[in-house]
Amino acid sequence: MNASPIRRVVILGGGTAGWISAALLGRAFGSRLAIRLIESDAIGTVGVGEATIPQIQHINRFLGLDEREVLKASQGTYKLGIQFNDWGRVGDSYLHAFGDIGLPLGLIPFQHYWLRDRQERSAAASQGAAELWAYSINARACHAGRMARMERIGDTPLTGLRHAYHLDAGLYARFLRAQCDPTVVQRIEGKVVDVALREDDGFIQSLLLESGERIEGDLFIDCSGFRGLLIEETLHAGYDDWKHWLPCDRAMAVASTRVAPMRPYTQASARAAGWQWRIPLQHRSGNGHVYSSDFISDDEATATLLSHLEGEAMGEPRPLRFQTGCRRRFWHRNCIAIGLAAGFMEPLESTGIHLIQSAVSRLISLFPDSAFDAAMIDAYNRQTRFEYERIRDFLILHYRATERRDTPFWRHCAQIEPPESLRRKLDVFRASAQLFRDGEELFTDVGWLQVLIGQHVQPQRHHPLANAVTPAQLDEFLTHIRTLLDRAIDSMPSHDAFIERHCKAP
Ligand code: FAD
Repeated sequence: MNASPIRRVVILGGGTAGWISAALLGRAFGSRLAIRLIESDAIGTVGVGEATIPQIQHINRFLGLDEREVLKASQGTYKLGIQFNDWGRVGDSYLHAFGDIGLPLGLIPFQHYWLRDRQERSAAASQGAAELWAYSINARACHAGRMARMERIGDTPLTGLRHAYHLDAGLYARFLRAQCDPTVVQRIEGKVVDVALREDDGFIQSLLLESGERIEGDLFIDCSGFRGLLIEETLHAGYDDWKHWLPCDRAMAVASTRVAPMRPYTQASARAAGWQWRIPLQHRSGNGHVYSSDFISDDEATATLLSHLEGEAMGEPRPLRFQTGCRRRFWHRNCIAIGLAAGFMEPLESTGIHLIQSAVSRLISLFPDSAFDAAMIDAYNRQTRFEYERIRDFLILHYRATERRDTPFWRHCAQIEPPESLRRKLDVFRASAQLFRDGEELFTDVGWLQVLIGQHVQPQRHHPLANAVTPAQLDEFLTHIRTLLDRAIDSMPSHDAFIERHCKAP
């Protein structure tokens, strides 16, 4: 049988996953596809997912969007990193700032020079070394509450600010919907009540709406949220549960009144049995407490959340339950799960929306025809799993690398047995201060470095080549970088002023 092109795509779900999928596929394939997106106002969306990472800019570029319009439409602010409070020890605060730190010198990364400086100063009991974040333009701008568009620092080799956004998830989904060409993407409001499978191969044939209408398709994208109506309830793709590595399984979320000035970063503050996010938007702040139900009750979690708000709560806290992990098969037969239907990892590093966009871009590059070649499906599933597992490892690091022993939850975290892939990375870093990015894993060495150093993981040595410069040369090199960054920061407007000028929501 000759394979024919896929033409009818059905997306089940109109949350962030559904609308990103519709917008990107619609832009990529245009009228070659007839896309129908089914969503149910009665069911609604999860309504959280407000912090992002810089890769979100690819969506703008692909759709030809001006980021200022995106931010205006979604009451957004700029995000330059995440501040982690009380993770390594109570009282700690460090940043995972986007972008680079310092400059490599010769063949070896910057951290080796910084480690040498720190070691020599403490051995000589001389003035303390500047902390790692003094060499990060993003961290400096976070601390100073500044924002600018700056690709490079002047005409130096130092890279400029790297940014992402904080967005109102509901407004962002609505904005993406407005970007879809209605001749390519048709929205259907209705509730799916049944799924018909083909008898010969078990592929999905059609979805039955409550109204009695039947929606047929060649390819089905399951963006139905946690339940995975197609991928799990219908096709039983299976789920790997990662609770033994990441013990949190619930969240309590509430908006609060806006606080000025708006910080250009997300805050993730550890609590007795989990952690709390704070996300500044133009019209309000987003807050949530992620926690483990093995260690505290929902009432205790709510009380903790409310007692740490900066503004006034706007409405009642909303409970969310989740199971950390991912589908055994993301793509099964003619169904691909994207978004919460594919898996879930807590938003500690704001990876939810990224996982959606990278799934769609992978689907575009491996777009099937009616033969649904097994090798392509296998490649998709392997690449997606790799991406999930590496993000998972990075999240586990935050819990595992803690010196906190003050509550049963943190004592439990300190004993988590890391997966082999994380253990190897930790062992190499401890022995050599060296970090390696495997394949196409998402987080950079600089991201890992900040969490490791921020949570007191000490390498035993720095690279011997960092000793090739004299102490005076090293001092000059480090001082020069700090001076350039000082000047760059001084030239930037405040984050609030930048928003007021470029992307103030009406
Ligand atoms: P949903 O928003 O749940 O949408 C499901 C859709 O399916 C809805 O439109 C619903 O109507 C439809 N549907 C379901 N069943 C049916 C049916 N039978 N018939 C018709 N329609 C149906 N990500 C980030 O990037 N950054 C963050 O800071 C972040 N924070 C998060 C915090 C929490 C507590 C949680 C739980 C998630 C967070 N995420 C975050 C993840 C992010 O929220 C999701 O990745 C994103 O919202 C995508 O959700 P979704 O579209 O897959 O599902």
